[in-house]
Formats: sequence, C-alpha cells, structure tokens
Amino acid sequence: MSDTYDCIIVGAGPAGLGAALYTARDRMKTLILEKFMPGGQIINTDRIENYPGIERIDGAGLIMQMQKQVENFGAEIKTGCEVSGLEKLQDGNIAVYCDEDKYTARTVILTPGSDYRKLGVPGEEEFRNAGAGVSYCGTCDAPFYKGREVVAVGGGNTAVEETLHLTKFAQKVTMLHRRDEFRAAKILIEELLEKANEPNSNLIIKYSTVATAIEGQGKVQSAKLKNVKTGQEEDYPCDGVFIFIGMVPNTGFLKGFVELTDRGFIKCDCAYLRTSVPGVFVAGDCRIGAAMQLATAVGDGVVAAMMLKQYFRDPAWWNEPVSDLLQPGGW
Ligand SMILES: Cc1cc2nc3c(=O)[nH]c(=O)nc-3n(C[C@H](O)[C@H](O)[C@H](O)COP(=O)(O)OP(=O)(O)OC[C@H]3O[C@@H](n4cnc5c(N)ncnc54)[C@H](O)[C@@H]3O)c2cc1C
Repeated sequence: MSDTYDCIIVGAGPAGLGAALYTARDRMKTLILEKFMPGGQIINTDRIENYPGIERIDGAGLIMQMQKQVENFGAEIKTGCEVSGLEKLQDGNIAVYCDEDKYTARTVILTPGSDYRKLGVPGEEEFRNAGAGVSYCGTCDAPFYKGREVVAVGGGNTAVEETLHLTKFAQKVTMLHRRDEFRAAKILIEELLEKANEPNSNLIIKYSTVATAIEGQGKVQSAKLKNVKTGQEEDYPCDGVFIFIGMVPNTGFLKGFVELTDRGFIKCDCAYLRTSVPGVFVAGDCRIGAAMQLATAVGDGVVAAMMLKQYFRDPAWWNEPVSDLLQPGGW
C-alpha cells in the first residue's frame, strides 16, 4: 500500500473531524495530525445547546463521539504532532512536516482553527469556562446568563452584535470600551446607542474603561474596572465577563505557503473552500469569513471533503470559477 495519503487534515477540531468523517467513510486513506489531543476549542465548554439535533451536550462528550465515529471508518489520528510547514511537491502531492517527520498526501485540508484574543488580566484563565463566568462567545453562552448581570468588553462589530445579543438574556449588560467612541459599523453603533437610550434599558455603556482583573470565589463575582482617562478604579459586581476583542488564527506555520489575509486568516473561495495552493482546502475558524461556530466548522469540513473528489477527478477544476454547474454530491 502506498505511503501517500489521499488526504491529510491538519487539526482535529470539529472542522477536521467533520472532514475526516466524510473522507474516511468514502474509503479515502485519511490522516489527521493534531498538536494536542482531538477536540479543538469546543472541549473548553461543558454546555453546547446550539448544535442541531442535540439538545445539550458537553464539548468533550461530543468530541469523543466524533473521534470514535471517524476512527471506526478508518481515519488515523496522530496526536502530539504539531505541523510546522507544508510544501507542494513536483509530482503534485503535498508534503506535511511535523518535527522530524514528513507525510505526503494528494490533498490537504487545513483546519488549525483560531484562538480568542485574550484580555490578559488576572482571573481570565481561572474563570475561563461558561459555567465559571468568562466567555468569548455571546451566541454560544448568552442564554446561560438569563436574569443575571454581565460585563461585555470590546468595541468592534462583533462586540456590538454580541453585546446586543446579550441584552436579550441578561438582566443588566455593562459594555466597556477602552476608547471614547466605537469603531464598529455606523448602523451597529446606532442600534447599540438606541438600545442604551431606551427608558429603563438593561444596557449601560462605559467609555474609556478597561477591565483590569476578574474576581470571585469559584465563579465570577466582580470585575475591576479602570477609567483610562481619570485613572479611577472600581469593583464592579457581575456574574460573568464576555470578552469580544477578536480572534487570532493559528496560521503562523502557513506563512509563505498559502495566501493569508493581513490578520492571518486563510484566503479561500468560500464556496468550495479552495486555497491559493491546488489540492489544499481549508475549513473552520481559520478561514476568511468563518462564522466561528461549531456547526459551521463541521459543515466546512464536510464541504472540503466533498470537494476533494472533484479535484481528484479533474485537477484543472481548481482554477475554475464557482459555478452552479457543480452541485456538491452531484458527481
Ligand atoms: C469556551 C468555548 C465555548 C464555545 N461554545 C460554543 C458553542 O456552544 N456553540 C458553538 O457553535 N461554538 C462554540 N464555540 C466555538 C467553537 O468551539 C469553534 O467555532 C469550533 O471549535 C471551531 O472548530 P475548528 O475545527 O475550526 O477549530 P478548533 O476548534 O480551534 O480546532 C483546531 C484544532 O487544530 C489544532 N491545531 C492548531 N494548529 C495546529 C498545528 N500547527 N498542527 C496540528 N494541529 C494544530 C488545535 O490544537 C485544535 O485541536 C466555543 C468556543 C469556546 C472556546
């Protein structure tokens, strides 16, 4: 049997496991290389309520099932294997490097994910779990704060959207912005200010204010706030702190191999998930335009895995524009 894999997947998060389910079940020789253990970001939560068909599950439980399912179909997972670089070979295959090891494949799906940008204040790591009170995803965790008081940190588009989402659940939302005006889209700022100016609004905006610590016993009970203009500090009671200050894609090892945006996200066509290198697909939170959700990461993995077959059939397809002549599954 050839040592060359049909597909190597970089990262065993939801996108990587979603892709492997399809490639392995399609009898493609599949290898997943994972720097830690299977799971990705989702294993950091014990409550998922927005994965269709499953009312409630913890991240680790879901991942265990996904891992078992892909292994049952024959996918090989190598853990403790941090990919440090890739290379397009003369014969069209792709070499994937991991420490001293070199693996080769006809195709690669890049699924290294992104990390939430951290505030870097005391208490952030200690309480980093929806149950304990620090969260980076309002869409995921807002319902757990029904009737409670939360602080939201940030000032960009996502921060504004996520904060507005929080106001539908929490009894009181205090938004901290380190500047004295927002940099989000005008329409979003208008919506935010309109909400804050409603009579008896549950949204308070504190400008020129940062959180310098998150405190509590076992769970978040307060945040230390500081006005950056006056230097004044206060202990602010709250049940949770939501941090919306951006994402950092795990793509440093891909510089010079595939095209990245200035912020490091992997460029792709967003329909078939082709990158700038023929045979190399992308899926999940590391790609341009990602929705940063479990279901969309899995969905991306599935799309990339299905598109592999089109590439195998006709490598020239790589340079064809996105077209409605090609329906996934229609070949
Ligand atoms: C606390 C928390 C709670 C969340 N809750 C929800 C929720 O309730 N609902 C929801 O829809 N979403 C939720 N999310 C978001 C969701 O987890 C992500 O959208 C999803 O995990 C993205 O999947 P991914 O596979 O693209 O990337 P990731 O999950 O980030 O997985 C990437 C994997 O690649 C590996 N990797 C990275 N670089 C390399 C390398 N060089 N070599 C080898 N391996 C590498 C990583 O170790 C990781 O295992 C939550 C996220 C967090 C942090």
